[in-house]
Amino acid sequence: MDIELQKVSYSYGVGTPFEKRALFDVDLLIPSGSYQAIIGHTGSGKSTILQHLNALLKPTEGTVRIGSAIIEYKKKPKDLRPVRQKVGIVFQFPEHQLFEETVLKDIMFGPMNFGVDEKEAEERARKMSKLVGLPEEVLEKSPFDLSGGQMRRVAIAGVLAMKPDVIVLDEPTAGLDPRGRKEIMELFYKLYKEQNLTMILVTHSMEDAARYADHIAIMYNGRCVLTGKPLEIFSDATKLAEFRLEVPHIIRFQKRLEARLGFSLPKLCLTEEE
Ligand code: ADP
Repeated sequence: MDIELQKVSYSYGVGTPFEKRALFDVDLLIPSGSYQAIIGHTGSGKSTILQHLNALLKPTEGTVRIGSAIIEYKKKPKDLRPVRQKVGIVFQFPEHQLFEETVLKDIMFGPMNFGVDEKEAEERARKMSKLVGLPEEVLEKSPFDLSGGQMRRVAIAGVLAMKPDVIVLDEPTAGLDPRGRKEIMELFYKLYKEQNLTMILVTHSMEDAARYADHIAIMYNGRCVLTGKPLEIFSDATKLAEFRLEVPHIIRFQKRLEARLGFSLPKLCLTEEE
């Protein structure tokens, strides 16, 4: 399912003295099956875009298309449940949203809330918890007895149990140590490849964007100022400096090696250690 933003502008607090424009004429097409990163410094508009991706916010100008659903300002709201089911958001610190007595019940909560029967919800929960690498014995435990990394996996399994087509990741590695970060990012990449998902990574980590995404959009002061493949985007360090961004280490390494070899290397064939 693809998502398209056409000339999207958004202002908070329209008509109040606190009115604040956060997005200006953003055009962005996220094709089905792609791994799109949206990057930019704090305050550049990333979270505001994120909330348009499953209609938590409606644009104040322009159009958001999510699959066949069209979302526009002041248009009568349609039933947005199918959109919300198809686009799952893994929010920052998703473990803060866990609340059920057991891990199993927590993962089943989303689907049951959307009308899936208990048997089917449990089947999905068991399957998804395996997929995210949770051992079976934790399913009957309280989610609050798990480690931070495992709690995050429970939250991710809960999003997957909704059977989304698109997963939006909001700074998914916030608060994790380098090893935990790598594990979680590798898990998302595996899910992306194996589950036929569209991934949208909202982050300020350029290393993660360069390593995993196949398309990058750069936000700067509410505008989408650059879009393209990682190598295209990061090849112009001067331009990036204008947007207060740096060329990531991994790309510098790849470019250096390519210059030495005299031909382009496919993305993701390198690791920082090489
Ligand atoms: P990012 O996620 O890149 O840090 P945001 O989308 O949160 O950026 O913010 C974009 C702009 O909108 C910022 O100037 C921010 O101060 C403003 N903003 C964000 N949320 C609100 C809000 N609820 N009310 C008013 N202004 C907001």
